[in-house]
Amino acid sequence: MNVLVINCGSSSLKYQLFNMKDESVLAKGLVERIGIEGSKLTHEGPTGGKEKIEVPMKDHKEALGHVLEAITHAEYGAIQSLDEINAIGHRVVHAGEKFSGSVVITDAVMAALEECIELAPLHNPPNIMGVSAMQELLPGVPNVGVFDTAFHQTMPQSSYVYALPYEYYERDHVRRYGFHGTSHRYVSQRTAEILDKNIEDLKIITCHLGNGASLAAIDGGKSIDTSMGFTPLEGLVMGTRCGDIDPQIVTYIMGKEDLTLDEMNNIMNKKSGVLGISGVSSDFRDIEDAAKEGNERAVLALDIYHLNVRKYIAAYASVLGGVDAIVFTAGLGENGIDSRKEICKNLEFMGAVLDPEKNKVRGKETVVSTDDSRVKIMVVPTNEELMIARDTLELVK
Ligand code: AMP
Repeated sequence: MNVLVINCGSSSLKYQLFNMKDESVLAKGLVERIGIEGSKLTHEGPTGGKEKIEVPMKDHKEALGHVLEAITHAEYGAIQSLDEINAIGHRVVHAGEKFSGSVVITDAVMAALEECIELAPLHNPPNIMGVSAMQELLPGVPNVGVFDTAFHQTMPQSSYVYALPYEYYERDHVRRYGFHGTSHRYVSQRTAEILDKNIEDLKIITCHLGNGASLAAIDGGKSIDTSMGFTPLEGLVMGTRCGDIDPQIVTYIMGKEDLTLDEMNNIMNKKSGVLGISGVSSDFRDIEDAAKEGNERAVLALDIYHLNVRKYIAAYASVLGGVDAIVFTAGLGENGIDSRKEICKNLEFMGAVLDPEKNKVRGKETVVSTDDSRVKIMVVPTNEELMIARDTLELVK
């Protein structure tokens, strides 16, 4: 059984073709600049070589047409015919309160996802376009939706209702949804496997620290709290997003600087975070370099970031009533040796002791706490695509 996993953004898309017999990746790639001059498909087939296909691709359907050609190409393809694609798994960002798990996409599901567009106006439309395109390109092949929000649907009301007039929740669906759910789910399941424990017996804090960043408190395999909220702007300080701030700042700056809603949204989403504080970059490698050269704002950005993650970890320990494992994943979580060290400083009081030698690791599944640390500190690289492929297989087999 081969499963094609697709993740459509507004002007780009990523894909991976899995052979689910052994979960091996047969082909993968990326299309950039869809609908913009200079469209480009970079495809990696079974030999590992990279093919670049540069032809105009006016929309997602055209782009996916080229992806299917590349996958079945005589020279660099991975399969001989499209009949060998048995199912398609799609990453879909927002399913509101409609789905608490992955689903086979039907007309009714599509209608439900359309209704969620107002909750994720930037993300859901390209995700939905990807599904429609595949329905047209490969009619008869089942499509499955795997939602970023679904894993967090197990949160209790006390974690997801905001202290606003209750009618905004009831009428306008304003509540914490949480994101990165597929990553938190994969990483927590993998953690249980690595520790050789039943996930039902574990209390895990997963730290997805990438360009976007969120933490989840996972009790017995279920998310009971997470740091992103109604949108992916809440919670941790991120690459370019401000995370938690005093909400009154928004109206104050808008009034003082005479800003429109779009301008303010742009500042909070694109110009803030460690980029905004440091003025250097949103990439932690650049900020670490600048900090080493003595750039004080770069040092401050890192200090604020590390303190912020540490505060959330301690808060979630109380939400869970104890912790068995703190797990780092995504770009910075998997690779940021210094960041993990700084974040874990001061966590010794709750029994989490980092081993500085074991911590010198990048992108590898491993335990980085000391042998006698009561709480395991771990690095577990995320694999959202594999999680999507597994869900897809499970639903269509
Ligand atoms: P992601 O969104 O998961 O791709 O993560 C991207 C983030 O990971 C960027 O901010 C990078 O700075 C960070 N990152 C990737 N590799 C490293 C590294 N070796 N050291 C520090 N940060 C890294």
